[in-house]
Amino acid sequence: MNNKTVNIAIDGPAGAGKSTIAKMVSKKLGYIYVDTGALYRTIALYITENGIEDEKVEEALPGAEVSLKFIDGEQRVFLGDRDVSELIRTPIISMAASRTSALPPVRAYLFETQQKIARENSVIMDGRDIGTVVLPNADVKIFLTASAEERADRRFKELSEKPDCPSYQEILDDIIQRDYQDMHRETAPLKQAEDAVLVDTTHLNLEESAAEIVRIITERIGSAD
Ligand code: C5P
Repeated sequence: MNNKTVNIAIDGPAGAGKSTIAKMVSKKLGYIYVDTGALYRTIALYITENGIEDEKVEEALPGAEVSLKFIDGEQRVFLGDRDVSELIRTPIISMAASRTSALPPVRAYLFETQQKIARENSVIMDGRDIGTVVLPNADVKIFLTASAEERADRRFKELSEKPDCPSYQEILDDIIQRDYQDMHRETAPLKQAEDAVLVDTTHLNLEESAAEIVRIITERIGSAD
């Protein structure tokens, strides 16, 4: 790896707070925050909108033209020239992404995109297989988790002000199903890398979780210099 760039991998299940916490940590440390889930969601949107069958995905992917742009430090994701950053956040696309991300051509297609960003920038990259597959030589690896009930409770509180909020039970069922799909797929399943530090946020708030991760990173990077 290039000496000038620092790569931090944060993996963990859906709803563990990865993106919010990773954003806070990246601001504090001055790194770019890369949400790789947004890439998988965008591919899922492309497959869904175009009604592409699984067998046709490989040949259709080059037409997807997925790209990330960082506007005022904020990641935006594009399908061609269309900014789809909000459109990919629906429960339907969450579930579609969990399914289509298991397809090997989808993972191969996004592998290069993710590695290139990490080669060129100091990043905090979050996902499911960053520490195990995408950045096996990351300077620091964190596995961020919380109990399924706690994750469902947080998501429920977040969504409760919105119209058509699903029930707590529906959210919990979704989380359990996505955990299962992400952990049991054949290609790049969600699992803790052997050299990752486990951070369980079940009993920590966002600030405490971010502070703990900053502490781990500073300790590791400091001792690596
Ligand atoms: O992180 P987020 O929930 O937005 O990710 C959506 C889906 O994309 C996940 O359920 C997972 O199946 C997939 N994903 C993945 N590998 C990553 C990031 C996300 O398989 N590195």
